[in-house]
Amino acid sequence: MKNITGIMIYYYFVCKRKLWLFSNEITMEHESDNVMLGKLLDENSYNKEKKHIMIDNTINIDFIKKWEVLHEIKKSQSMEEASVWQIKYYLYFLKKRDIKVEKGILDYPKLKIRKEIILEKEDIKYIEEILKHINDIINTEKVPEFNILKICKNCSYYDYCLS
Ligand code: SF4
Repeated sequence: MKNITGIMIYYYFVCKRKLWLFSNEITMEHESDNVMLGKLLDENSYNKEKKHIMIDNTINIDFIKKWEVLHEIKKSQSMEEASVWQIKYYLYFLKKRDIKVEKGILDYPKLKIRKEIILEKEDIKYIEEILKHINDIINTEKVPEFNILKICKNCSYYDYCLS
């Protein structure tokens, strides 16, 4: 079974086809959201925090403040549901390893907006269902069908999907 990363949780909500392509190591050289966000983070006001923390070679947290609050940086609110579940997954992942982190913050530095994210009891069951569903999706041989979405034009797989 593959490790499920935070970005896979994010893609689960964004596009199942993208999730499959990414998880099956089909990558595009195009500048990805990740790279852009990494730049944004490095160039902005978070220099004093612990940044890009990789845990168990699976989740990569943008930064954590005193091991109490973790932050995920996004540039726009367009995929907010995906971002919220990505953070909840990080909180879940850490909780499973007895690392107590109080909450997550969804950070939009360019918009100067921050949202507090808590892992609720009922979220745990839902995350476990998502993990099973992700495993089913990424382990099938066939890539999920291409259905054009609003976000396609900004997706690094756009040319691939159109071809
Ligand atoms: S181009 Fe659209 S359908 Fe294809 S992977 Fe990206 S978001 Fe999904």
